[in-house]
Amino acid sequence: MSNKEKINLGLKSLSGLNRSELKKELSFMDIPDSKVNMRISQIWNWLYARGAKSIDEMTNLSKEFREELKKRFNLKRPKIVKQEISTDGTRKWLIRFLDGSEIETVYIPDENRGTLCVSSQVGCTLNCTFCYTGTQRLVRNLTSQEIVSQLIIAKDSLKEWNNPIRQITNIVMMGMGEPLYNFENVRDGILTFSDDAGLSISKRKITLSTSGIVPKIEPAGNEIGVMLAISLHATNNDLRDKLVPINKKYPIEELIKACRSYPRVKNSKRITFEYVMLKNVNDSEKDAKKLLKLISGIPSKINLIPFNSWPGTPYECSDWDQIEKFSDIINKGGYASPIRMPRGRDISAACGQLKSDTEKEKASIKYKKELAKLKSGRIRPL
Ligand code: SAH
Ligand code: SF4
Repeated sequence: MSNKEKINLGLKSLSGLNRSELKKELSFMDIPDSKVNMRISQIWNWLYARGAKSIDEMTNLSKEFREELKKRFNLKRPKIVKQEISTDGTRKWLIRFLDGSEIETVYIPDENRGTLCVSSQVGCTLNCTFCYTGTQRLVRNLTSQEIVSQLIIAKDSLKEWNNPIRQITNIVMMGMGEPLYNFENVRDGILTFSDDAGLSISKRKITLSTSGIVPKIEPAGNEIGVMLAISLHATNNDLRDKLVPINKKYPIEELIKACRSYPRVKNSKRITFEYVMLKNVNDSEKDAKKLLKLISGIPSKINLIPFNSWPGTPYECSDWDQIEKFSDIINKGGYASPIRMPRGRDISAACGQLKSDTEKEKASIKYKKELAKLKSGRIRPL
């Protein structure tokens, strides 16, 4: 029997399901029509308001019904393969799903809030040249259950369930992957995050970051309705084609046009433009002035992200002085331009440093083999 068949014969986890999936699963059980909605609400409350870890905890369901549920379901979470804690308190979890693929999720505590950085795909197909995730070859979309499970796991680890003090107040879809290339699952996952009767993270506190998949920006506004962040990084097409190659398909003018008509912007809600600071590449004062022109009239703020380095990258982070000069110009132009302080760099948890460990290990094994061959004289260096 293949592994896949074995998994199919096992119990299905209800943890992380969205409302329509939960309804579908329960439709296979013998529940009178008049009670279906009540059962869904009860189970939803256990899953997402109380963080139940076993069906036995669901004490407002009859014992018989719980036994029936247990024949088909459990509340298992995906496995945490590794947890790392940075000196600045940032935590990174390496999470493995049933098919063996892995992603990373990061929690960043701050004075008045805590942000969970959630992944939307295993790897990313987009190959932005300054991003480590883009170098990972293994790529697949996460299911909405896998997306939601990242928050469940974080709440488990932080012991946040049933605790009046909330540690995770914000969510950013800024982990591995391009969220708008996995539109439906990201939408369903976010709607589960923001559901008032459950996880209850307000849409104002959820930000979706995209490299600029133009045709999906308006649907994102209408169907998801969270805060939007655009990974801009350059002010002309020549440079953006190099840094964010999807720009060749959706150039800057189209991207900015889509931002101007983003449904939330019409209600004067701000868009965030993300701008990675790359030394001598996009960080001149001229670039800053061009940036101001480009976004003129769009309610927005510019997040300047000091470049986070990774093995083998050709880029360097801009000098601090230069980042401050850049920021001053943007500020004087009337836009907030906070500099995003790098968090969790010591555990490779900062923006653009995420990549699953299996991939890193594979790369390091390959490197060691090459080195051994080199030493044994079997291959010659170039
Ligand atoms: N794929 C989405 C969301 C994930 S990346 C996107 O690209 O928007 C989250 C942010 O980190 C993006 O703005 C991305 O451009 C930025 N980023 C990627 N690599 C980085 C690096 N090495 N240093 C700093 N920021 C980086
Ligand atoms: Fe993908 Fe975003 Fe990294 Fe680009 S920056 S490769 S879109 S994760």
